[in-house]
Amino acid sequence: MKMSDPPPGDRMGGPVVSGHRMLAVMADRSAAAPVLRPSSASGRRPAAPVLALDLGASRIRVAVVAPDGRILARRDGRTPGANGPDAVVAACIDHLRAVRDDAGPAIAGRLAGVGLSAPGPVDPRAGTLVEPPNIGPGFRDVQFAAPIGLALGLPAALERDTHVAALGELAFGVARGSRDFIYLTVSTGFGGAIVVGGRLYGGPDGMAGELGHLPVDLDGPPCGCGGRGHIEALCSGSGIARLATEAVRSGRSPALAARLAARAPGPLAGRDVAEAADAGDSEAVAIMDRARRAFAALLVGLVDAFAPERIVVGGSLADAQGERLLGPAREAVATTAFRIPRDRVQIVPAALGDDVGLVGAVPLLALRGHSTRAV
Ligand SMILES: [Zn+2]
Repeated sequence: MKMSDPPPGDRMGGPVVSGHRMLAVMADRSAAAPVLRPSSASGRRPAAPVLALDLGASRIRVAVVAPDGRILARRDGRTPGANGPDAVVAACIDHLRAVRDDAGPAIAGRLAGVGLSAPGPVDPRAGTLVEPPNIGPGFRDVQFAAPIGLALGLPAALERDTHVAALGELAFGVARGSRDFIYLTVSTGFGGAIVVGGRLYGGPDGMAGELGHLPVDLDGPPCGCGGRGHIEALCSGSGIARLATEAVRSGRSPALAARLAARAPGPLAGRDVAEAADAGDSEAVAIMDRARRAFAALLVGLVDAFAPERIVVGGSLADAQGERLLGPAREAVATTAFRIPRDRVQIVPAALGDDVGLVGAVPLLALRGHSTRAV
């Protein structure tokens, strides 16, 4: 198979929504979507700078990013989630216009497109936010790429934040040169992305790879998604905080109770638990230890299932824990995963930090077929 042939089943090439094409898509959603597929996720990059937006539950971050991943201008602001979807889309457009103007007319006049990163689930083909859990009320099937692309007069491509991060690490970070790797983010939530043969694996509708909801403990605690014993319920900021709050309610941890009182009226955060564990509180130690064991068990499963070259681990909780999270996982993989994949796999921290959702806009637009636009 040539590099330029998309393999059967590759479905990540969603429509790039812009101009008359967007209107055609909106007018007849049942029509065949325009197919703009790249040679590979690590293939050619846009020859021109791109606009980038990273929508988070609390912040909107925007940037102008050069083809080599350098950030040329940036801004950020609060996400007005409580004001509803229209307010959030309008704020995104305002920030993007402002950062475009910051970059100056010479750059603004030759932008290749807008790359949009947003919390999942998203529909990358329709360019919609499907049902993001933490942004605010009324977010269901929200048109996102279309109004932003129209307002900026540029092609706009939307992907789930973890997919954009995986593309960013593949193009500019520690996954460079990988064909098969898993990206994980351990933060407030637990997210993932699967790259197979240099391509994001999205399944039939672009939504595959939600690795945070793999079960690691059948009798474990409830997960925010409604399931039970998922890795996110045990090894994420929100899951750890929930377990700690439970420990306070049942009177098992005076140290965590004191931290909760200090936070009042706010809730405990994952870092409160990590700090209490470092200070020697036995309940917090047990919660953090369980998180590390759950993470290690998950990684053994991922190594056996996918035999990846690398597992790249990002996110604020993983960054803060460092080797205390990755070390036990490496040890479990080395002792219990299948021999050939365990000897090959590298379990490494992500390289790009908070900017991964912005610099990932460059390979995202390349993936959607904007690699050859004239400068
Ligand atoms: Zn879940």
